[in-house]
Amino acid sequence: MGTRARFTLLFTALFLIGSAADAMAAMAQERGAGQRGQRGQGGGRGQQAPPAPAHHPEARFDVETTTAGPVKITPLTHASLRLEFAGKIIDIDPTGDYSWMPKSDLILITDIHGDHLQPASVNALKKQGTVIIAAPEVVTSVTEAKPMANGATENLNAGGTQIRVEAVPSYNLTRGPAAGQLYHTKGRGNGYIVTLGGKRIYMAGDTECVPEVKALRNIDVAFLPMNLPFTQTPEEAAECVKAFRPKVVYPYHYRGQDTKVFENALRGENGVEVRLRDWY
Ligand SMILES: [Zn+2]
Repeated sequence: MGTRARFTLLFTALFLIGSAADAMAAMAQERGAGQRGQRGQGGGRGQQAPPAPAHHPEARFDVETTTAGPVKITPLTHASLRLEFAGKIIDIDPTGDYSWMPKSDLILITDIHGDHLQPASVNALKKQGTVIIAAPEVVTSVTEAKPMANGATENLNAGGTQIRVEAVPSYNLTRGPAAGQLYHTKGRGNGYIVTLGGKRIYMAGDTECVPEVKALRNIDVAFLPMNLPFTQTPEEAAECVKAFRPKVVYPYHYRGQDTKVFENALRGENGVEVRLRDWY
């Protein structure tokens, strides 16, 4: 079955079980955000179609040092990124065409929406021994994933490489498709903190600046979403950074927003480095 067919099936299933028309429209938009990262897809909204991960062989990457060697951080698209550490590959929310890319040792999936979860991308990355960790509802479509609840911790030993994963709640406080509804309800989505050689790297997933995020401490690198209507504004994300003070912060999942606003709001914040990268 082709990728498009899989998405069509999945989405049809989601449509059938979906209750609110507005929520479905929101999901379609989120799904579209992920799909626009694929090869040959039209961009819509007057934007040129961004390249898929497959078209980023020379994507800009950053390197952080840890007590156990370097970790390479490669932004791919929207909410998708890759970490490489001690010969292991970790993919977060893989979407788009990964068929040509080296396969993953660990895949983390934050949410059920199509800009975070594309089973075809996960399948393309799997090899013998790949560990998949996901928010519990993801297991419906990626059945081999190990569900991880908000607040849970896993200590993985990937061929002698220690990787600690913590699940941080990821949800909306106020934003939703209609009064009394939220795009992301508490308990469904996970952000993840991955600890590699003592460095704590946090991928927030789709969240607003919820108390659990504000309360984080000792984060070395953070990836924060900032798009509307689904998550938060760049200003709100900057206020959140002032609360939990990661040493390095990347805007991601920011389609349609001006990340310079985020950068400017944090100008003069000592000890916080803002990294703007091209995710689209
Ligand atoms: Zn999203």
